[in-house]
Amino acid sequence: MINVTCFKCRRRFDLDPVFVGAELRKLKIKNPRHYQAICPACHATNKVSVGEMQDELEAMADEIEALAQAQAKAAEEARKRARAAAKEKKSEKEKKSARSKK
Ligand SMILES: [Zn+2]
Repeated sequence: MINVTCFKCRRRFDLDPVFVGAELRKLKIKNPRHYQAICPACHATNKVSVGEMQDELEAMADEIEALAQAQAKAAEEARKRARAAAKEKKSEKEKKSARSKK
């Protein structure tokens, strides 16, 4: 676990390196220097140095990879569901308008 102390309210909280690693991969930046951790108490954004977490991230590389892939798959499935729902809605609308023409 990566321990963070909120700069604002001084509350301590833990970050899961697997979650952090997966989040960092989602960023559009190639080599992010910081991870933005949200304090659970005051919601302040705490910048955590990626360099300081490097050892923990490397130790969890396999788990991070697995989580990132699972998240990408879940996102893809959500997109497919959304597309299918939109298509269904459209065909329903077409059916209705076809009926109303009679
Ligand atoms: Zn705080």
